[in-house]
This record gives sequence, structure tokens and C-alpha cells, in this order.
Amino acid sequence: MQNHFDTIVIGGGPSGMMAAISSSFYGQKTLLLEKNKRLGKKLAGTGGGRCNVTNNGTLDDLMAGIPGNGRFLYSVFSQFDNHDIISFFTDNGVQLKVEDHGRVFPATDKSRTIIEALEKKIAQLGGTVQINTEIVSVKKTGETFTVKSTDSIWTCDKLIVTTGGKSYPSTGSTGFGHEIARHFRHTVTDLEAAESPLLTDFPHKALQGISLDDVTLRCGAHTITHDLLFTHFGLSGPAALRLSSFVKGGETIYLDFLPQMDQEEVAAFLDSKREKSLKNSLKILLPERLADFIAQPFPEKTKQLSPKEKEALLSQMKALPIPVTGKMSLAKSFVTKGGVSLKEINPKTLESKLVPGLCFAGEVLDINAHTGGFNITAALCTGWVAGSSHY
Ligand SMILES: Cc1cc2nc3c(=O)[nH]c(=O)nc-3n(C[C@H](O)[C@H](O)[C@H](O)COP(=O)(O)OP(=O)(O)OC[C@H]3O[C@@H](n4cnc5c(N)ncnc54)[C@H](O)[C@@H]3O)c2cc1C
Repeated sequence: MQNHFDTIVIGGGPSGMMAAISSSFYGQKTLLLEKNKRLGKKLAGTGGGRCNVTNNGTLDDLMAGIPGNGRFLYSVFSQFDNHDIISFFTDNGVQLKVEDHGRVFPATDKSRTIIEALEKKIAQLGGTVQINTEIVSVKKTGETFTVKSTDSIWTCDKLIVTTGGKSYPSTGSTGFGHEIARHFRHTVTDLEAAESPLLTDFPHKALQGISLDDVTLRCGAHTITHDLLFTHFGLSGPAALRLSSFVKGGETIYLDFLPQMDQEEVAAFLDSKREKSLKNSLKILLPERLADFIAQPFPEKTKQLSPKEKEALLSQMKALPIPVTGKMSLAKSFVTKGGVSLKEINPKTLESKLVPGLCFAGEVLDINAHTGGFNITAALCTGWVAGSSHY
């Protein structure tokens, strides 16, 4: 039968592409179905369009980077981990480079390099890819799954669902996989926004576009030191995204621009620049536009600062209060928290405990991670494992 496959994978993101690769590698006649006109649309937008393909940290780093049920992945990572991702790409001719915080990118700085390598590997291993194909229904009769788009129908023995979460639906991840899960009586945990940019009551216009390396954001007892970006609506970048899981809106958070210096060191620095203009002194420590913004309400010369003004300036630099009004919605957050309940999934094979032959991988599962390559690592590794087990 021409329309019968050993394995069908629904959803051509990183997880689905890797599932199609491992399934084909293990000799299964495999079909990957994607509704967009190209594979990996969301993946292409990661890392500012450069594709943050994985993170080169240790297993402990991976666990710290995957706060949403990372421990479920121990068995997956024992079969295929971030170092296997790195080997996979280098073995397939893609040169990679490691940047700050262990983030791994293609040396070309182009997402296409990664996506083309995945596409090429699927083709090389004899897998079939069909784009522009939205799946509208799935059912199982006896041992066989039937998968339907609006104008085609396929059957398979094994079905892998890699349709992603519900964030950035314009990239194709609209939650269809959760519908498949519910159809097969799986539990889908509550879906929430994760890694959400923060909306703030702050004169962000003046600071819009400024990015800062390794600053500290604090909310109550939670502190995050990472990169930060001022946007037209508030704060983004890894520090804000990570803090978002501890913030609802209505609280004040505090920004330390210079976490590597304590308050006394900053005060001593200012004293050493007494004869200079305040703006020029601050520019040594901070980006120019930020230095201008902070210096604005204060006297021109550093030595003209009264003790009270100096104290106010120090607190601006070490603990700038920023009122948070809310955070971006699920659709505008980077990651979806929640998904197919892990209690009903075998952690060794990613097969459903309820429906033999049905597997879930990637963000459709109840797993969420920080940006920085951790979600993509989870997607690629679960994809590999889901594709590699045969019954
Ligand atoms: C702007 C942005 C930046 C990000 N940056 C990072 C980062 O730096 N590091 C990091 O680790 N993570 C990052 N992420 C998160 C990461 O991209 C995702 O976690 C990852 O892509 C999930 O992979 P996936 O294969 O599970 O799902 P997806 O990449 O969402 O792929 C799912 C695919 O399934 C297809 N599909 C859905 N329904 C159907 C259907 N009915 N029929 C056919 N096809 C269907 C979709 O079109 C889509 O192509 C970022 C996310 C965004 C939005």
C-alpha cells in the first residue's frame, strides 16, 4: 500500500525532524507531515534568527535549564543528549560554535544551515517529507493508525506527535497535538505561558533596544543573573524570561546593573572620578544611552553630588525599582508550560502507556525549559528517542 508507512510523524519542528531521522535510521519507512510550507519555522526564529541549536553544558546544567519536569528526561538523555546533538551536526558537515552561557549556534550564524542539515539527513536516510499538509484527524483501528489531512489519508503502525506547544501560533504550533492526546484519552495539564517577556511601568522608550550582559533581576527571594533587553513594552532577554515564572504582575522588581561590584566598590569608583563629568564616569561602567539616562537627574560633575544624591544614584545603579504590570500572553511567550501528562508516557521510549504505538515528543509534552538551547535540546533528544524505539 503506497499510503501505508511504518511510522508517521506529525509536525516538522526540531522534534519531528529528529524523530523522522532516527526512525529512518532504524530502517522504518517514515513519513513526516508539516502544515507550513517549510520545516522548522519556529526553530528558525530562535537565537535571534541564528538558531540556538543546543547548549553544551553538563547533565546538571541541562537539569537546571529545564525547570519544567527536566527529571523526566534522564532516561532520554542517557540515550541521546546535547553532546550527541553536537556530534550529529558536526558529523553531518555543520560547523558549530559555542557562545556565552554554553549556547551553541551554527558557525554561519544562519538557521538555514541547521534546518537544511536536518532536511538533508531525512532525505539521505530515505524518509519522506510532505509540507503544506495540515493534519485534521487521527484515529486508531486495531493496530493501525489513520491520519487525515483535508485531501489525503495515510495509515501507519506507529504515530509520533511532535506538533509543539501553543506559543507563537503563527509558527504553526496551535495545540493540535493536545487535541490528539485528548482524543486518545490522555490527560493534558493546564497550559500556561513560560519564558514570558515582562510588561513594565518604566520609561522604557528612552532605553528601548539597549541590551545588557549579566545583570541581576530580583523579585522577592528570587534573583536571576543573565542578559537583559529593554523593549518598547518592558523587559525581555533571558533574565526577564527566567524571572517571569516568579512574577504575576503588580510587583516591583529590582535591577542591579553591576552585580559584579558591591555598593562600596561602585561608590569608590565614583570617588575616583570626582573631577570628571558624571555621564562620562558612568559610561565607563554602562552603555552610553543607559549612562545618559541614569545621569540625567543628577548634577553634571561627579564631585557636585550631595551625599543624598550619591546614595540615590547608587541605589539606581544597584537596585533600580521597576514596577511590573503583567507579562505577555501564552501566544506571545517563548514557551508553553504544561502539555501531555508525563504520568501517561513511558520515559524510556516516549510511548503512550494508554495507546500502544503512539508517541509524543518535544514541546507538546508537559516539559518546559529556559531559552538558551534547552527547549531545543529537549525537542531534538525526545525526537530521537521517540523515533528510535520500535515495537
Ligand atoms: C521567538 C522564540 C525564540 C525561542 N528561542 C529559544 C532559544 O533560544 N532556545 C530554546 O531552547 N528554545 C527557544 N524557543 C523555544 C523552541 O523554539 C521550542 O521549544 C521548540 O521549537 C519546540 O520544538 P517542537 O519540535 O516540539 O515544536 P515546534 O518547533 O513548535 O514545531 C511543531 C511543528 O508542528 C507543526 N504542526 C502543528 N500542528 C500541525 C498539524 N495539525 N499538521 C501538521 N503540522 C502541524 C507546526 O507547524 C510546527 O512546525 C524559542 C521560541 C520562540 C517562539
